[in-house]
Amino acid sequence: MSVWRYFIPTEVHFGRGVLLQKGDSMRTLGKRALVVTGKSSSKNGSLDDLKKVLDGIGVEYEVFDGVRENPSFEILRKAREMYGDFEPDFVVGLGGGSPMDFAKAISVLLKNPGIDLPELYNTEKYSSMYPVVAIPTTSGTGSEATQYSVITDDLGNKRGFGTDFTFPTLSFVDPRYTLTMPADLTVSTGVDALCHAVEGYLSRRSNPLAKVLAMRAIVGIRDALPKVIKSLDDLELREEMMLSSTIAGMVIAQTGTTVNHAFGYPLTTFKGIRHGQATGLFLVENLKIMGEEVPEEVEEVLKPFGGLEGLEGVLKDLGIYDLRVEIEPEDIESWTEGVSKAKHLKVTPGRYDPDTIRRVYERVARRIG
Ligand code: NAP
Ligand code: ZN
Repeated sequence: MSVWRYFIPTEVHFGRGVLLQKGDSMRTLGKRALVVTGKSSSKNGSLDDLKKVLDGIGVEYEVFDGVRENPSFEILRKAREMYGDFEPDFVVGLGGGSPMDFAKAISVLLKNPGIDLPELYNTEKYSSMYPVVAIPTTSGTGSEATQYSVITDDLGNKRGFGTDFTFPTLSFVDPRYTLTMPADLTVSTGVDALCHAVEGYLSRRSNPLAKVLAMRAIVGIRDALPKVIKSLDDLELREEMMLSSTIAGMVIAQTGTTVNHAFGYPLTTFKGIRHGQATGLFLVENLKIMGEEVPEEVEEVLKPFGGLEGLEGVLKDLGIYDLRVEIEPEDIESWTEGVSKAKHLKVTPGRYDPDTIRRVYERVARRIG
């Protein structure tokens, strides 16, 4: 086996009420915070908790609640203009993956006023950001435990950046904040976490520790996700989903995601399908292709489901394929070209020539068309 490392510098606090109990550790980060969030944090109790903690430790803060799903250059530009002179000591990302990713990006931009937005993706162009505190309110992306930030550029391409110094410094992971997620969002985010675990296990960059963690997350999601959508206020199930998604984040922090994620991106940008569902739509087809190169490893991740058909049945019951989207042949051509150039291909087992990629899109398009 080749050499490997496991790295996550984030101090992760986990559990019910954890922000209120442990949030005063933000004191060590300074006296001024920029809080970036969406609209839902004022409805699930998380923003109130955060304000209470920051007031309690005497941290001054501004709240920017303009983050939207799949954060874009446009909103980053706006926030950079608004807070260019604010000079925070730290940035808090409160919400789903979108606000947490946004926090990493705005933190880089405020700390490095000289860089242009596209240079965000080139992590050689800068070497620091303000410390980030991540507080998730969905259980899916794992962004509270990853270095990644996925930002949509001006052409509509979803692209990620991430390096050793873009991990959150602190995370507070409280499953209570996810109780307000409706069933469809619970499914989409939960399937995102499942894809992270499966892809992390199979990535060429995987390692023995990442594999153990990935299997833990896969089994946790298999057990909890089908139940939680019938019992949305079951805190124990919510806690299992939160734990599994944070663990899956720790996995992809080591391995990255595979080309399965790249397949989903254009469906989110151009067809408005949520990230997790868009990614989940391709999982079965991609496992078939990856299985041609690493059959034993694919068999291993499928064991908890009793095989590929079992996984497909679970995804079907969760409603992943229950949508209708018009996909034109021109869409497939341009998305095939995009995926053919995706950097994820390097770490993905299996042979992905343009014909194979096109075929995957055609199959999925038939299924949802
Ligand atoms: P999201 O885009 O952050 O949020 C989706 C929707 O859920 C928004 O409308 C949001 O409302 C709402 N919401 C959030 N928390 C809620 C709650 N507790 N109750 C009810 N509604 C709630 O969704 P996400 O799936 O967590 O994040 C997706 C983004 O993360 C994508 O851009 C994806 O590419 C990225 N991602 C990043 C990583 C990483 O490692 N960094 C990994 C995978 C995906 P408001 O916006 O109004 O608050
Ligand atoms: Zn994802």
